[in-house]
Amino acid sequence: MRYSDDIIEEVRMKNDIVDVVSQYVKLNRRGSTYFGLCPFHNEKTPSFSVTPSKQMYYCFGCGAGGNVFNFVMEYENYTFGEALQHLADRAGVQLPKIEYSGEAKRKAERRAVLLEINRLAARYFYYQLRRETGKQAYAYLTGRGLSEETIKKFGLGYSDKYSDDLYKFLKSKNYSDDLLRDSGLFNVDERRGMYDKFWNRVIFPIMDVNGRVIGFGGRVMGDGKPKYLNSPETTIFDKSRNLYGLNVARTTRKNYLILCEGYMDVISMHQAGFTNAVASLGTALTSGHASLLKRYTQEVLLLYDSDEAGVKAALRAIPILREAGLTSRVVNLRPHKDPDEFIKALGAEEFEKRLEQATDSFMFRVHMAERDFSMEDPQGQNRFFERCAQMLLELSDELERNLYIEAIVKDYRSSGITADNLKRRVGALA
Ligand SMILES: [Zn+2]
Repeated sequence: MRYSDDIIEEVRMKNDIVDVVSQYVKLNRRGSTYFGLCPFHNEKTPSFSVTPSKQMYYCFGCGAGGNVFNFVMEYENYTFGEALQHLADRAGVQLPKIEYSGEAKRKAERRAVLLEINRLAARYFYYQLRRETGKQAYAYLTGRGLSEETIKKFGLGYSDKYSDDLYKFLKSKNYSDDLLRDSGLFNVDERRGMYDKFWNRVIFPIMDVNGRVIGFGGRVMGDGKPKYLNSPETTIFDKSRNLYGLNVARTTRKNYLILCEGYMDVISMHQAGFTNAVASLGTALTSGHASLLKRYTQEVLLLYDSDEAGVKAALRAIPILREAGLTSRVVNLRPHKDPDEFIKALGAEEFEKRLEQATDSFMFRVHMAERDFSMEDPQGQNRFFERCAQMLLELSDELERNLYIEAIVKDYRSSGITADNLKRRVGALA
């Protein structure tokens, strides 16, 4: 893909770098240069500079730098073409339709065919769910409380007990084995040749933000292993850059998104009216997910299972979200295990209340750290407050730090801790 230098220059000139960067980073003017906290590394004092006269940015901390295109590419995870399109739209510049080069054209075509194969497979699974052989799977879904409307909305399906019927179906549409192999829908072994990856499973099509099917998740019927199986990563399916449900959640009017563990969580929450729920796809949260979330919101509510694994996952996610510039809170569903169970037991209204009461993620970390110390004896308490001081030191903003000092004092007043004492501890560590 190649645009003329003239059009690239026009787009660059019509997008003032200070304006563009200001949409993402709070900048303060100092002389002829603007400074702010670098969005590309974690820092406490601003070393990220933008120079209007040069239309360039540079970070003295991590060395990130470049022009307005580089900034948008890095921040939004865009390719150059996507950044150009984004900035052209922003400035109202019409890009000319252009011819792809041979290689790029082949790649784009292959992606288009893989998307088509996935779409056909989704329709095939959807149809199987409604046949006689899909009865058990359909009963499983309705048994879990899903309505017909929800099943339709998420395009849920069923892969039946034969291990080659999807293969036969797609072969009848004249796709080559080479393409089918790349679709991630089939296993290949020397003895059996190619056969369906998913069989006897309830199927959850996975869509990208634009609603295109890019992969599948399958839950086995009965006791087969593994219980959940996902498509492998393919040319069109990058697990670390896609979130289940985001195609719907991105249009929410709520000013936060809810991050939960799996498809069933997302689906039951959407059904209960919480259409701003998303989930990562069988992987822990990555920085790619975080920057994807950042495109659509400022705040994320973490809604992981109420067990130890869920707590661990939340503690792991918090710094990743923070690094991407997102604030986060943690939702407590106890004594219930997950959103599905909670909503069934207590209803959507109570659930909404839990969302409102979500704990600030910093205080969540403090409360979880408490568990590492024996709070009954003075030594344990002392070491716990030392840990609090270490965490407070991570906060660069003085006001923010003082607010958390007050919050900790409020929660642990019975231990005799005072704001002055905590401040002194932080000062000593710094
Ligand atoms: Zn930096």
